[in-house]
Amino acid sequence: MISASKIDLAKLCAWWARPDSPRAPYVPSRAADEGSAFHFEVESFLRDGTPGTSDLFAVWRAQWWVPTPASVTYEPTWKPEIQVAMDPQTGKTMLGHSSRAQRDYRWIPRGWVSGTADAARIYDRGERWVHVVDWKTGRADYVTPIATNGQMRFLAAALASAYGATRATIELAFVHLEGVQTERAELDLLELADIRAELRELVARIPDAAPTPGPWCRAKFCAAYGTTCPATTAAARALVEGPAAPFALALTVEDIESDAHATWLYHAARAAQQRMGAIWEALRQRASIHPIPVSEGRVYAIRESQRETIDATVPGAVDVLRRHLGDRWETAVRYQTSKSAISAAASEAKASGACAKVGALSAAILEELRSLNAVKVTTSATADERPG
Ligand code: SF4
Repeated sequence: MISASKIDLAKLCAWWARPDSPRAPYVPSRAADEGSAFHFEVESFLRDGTPGTSDLFAVWRAQWWVPTPASVTYEPTWKPEIQVAMDPQTGKTMLGHSSRAQRDYRWIPRGWVSGTADAARIYDRGERWVHVVDWKTGRADYVTPIATNGQMRFLAAALASAYGATRATIELAFVHLEGVQTERAELDLLELADIRAELRELVARIPDAAPTPGPWCRAKFCAAYGTTCPATTAAARALVEGPAAPFALALTVEDIESDAHATWLYHAARAAQQRMGAIWEALRQRASIHPIPVSEGRVYAIRESQRETIDATVPGAVDVLRRHLGDRWETAVRYQTSKSAISAAASEAKASGACAKVGALSAAILEELRSLNAVKVTTSATADERPG
């Protein structure tokens, strides 16, 4: 099964998608985790109006949600997380479960292409339109421009077919702390039909695809890079095994003899890094089943920690801050209304003689906020070495 987000990679190299290629491991990245947290916040907001607490969500809400005139001109209902699959041979489509938390791909028949729209809405403007949007939080230069973006074109064709639409608007919204930029394109009935034909051709080429390394291996996040792909693991292996490499392994700048040598070393180091990421993820998953003995009396194990965040939009929360901190309550909110922000405001109160103890004031505020349900607890699990 090929996913919509990998269509552009498959156009450049589809070896990883061959049915006989080994399954590449999933290597998590911090940027992807942060992107997922933001997507989850937007999904909750579109589903039931629950506002997110991150800075990225605040930027998205102020710069995309509020000023997007289409959100009120046609149909105010955006549906988040719509999963859709299409048979490239027949063009038949099916809609799946619409929840990031409950994403399940088992219902998708073998050989079908599937994808999930971050959000979409249907409206009538003479003809039936589907408007699909995808929020991007990573580097914009890694994303194929909207006019040729395989993921968005697939989602438009599949959702138009599923909802009986004859036209589509596709939109990429790049959300960063500095602001939101958007790219949009419109597709008519003929273009939607072309997309289905392109997909059929692409899928037909996959069984014979050869590894074709290039900048896209990393830029388009190929999971086989440095892990299962023969074209890129050779370089990674050379770092530890040394044998048939085209250049000597350089450990100091003096050992790098040419630009070609430096280029080879760069890709070898990148591929080795990816390989190490896969190994660490496998160990982390193993440690989540049971601790891994690493030496006498020490284990590599999962440690769970809890983090509390405060939602100042809960009715009554600001009143609590104002009552305890007076005018200084704004200090707490200015710094994202975190526990440390409340401590900062409490410190100001102590400095001005308004209270005797910072800790006691902070604790009283937090207790009241908890009783209002304005303190949210999230649990995270990290793996590290410890006595055991
Ligand atoms: S790492 Fe590059 S060459 Fe190898 S399968 Fe992926 S895209 Fe193709």
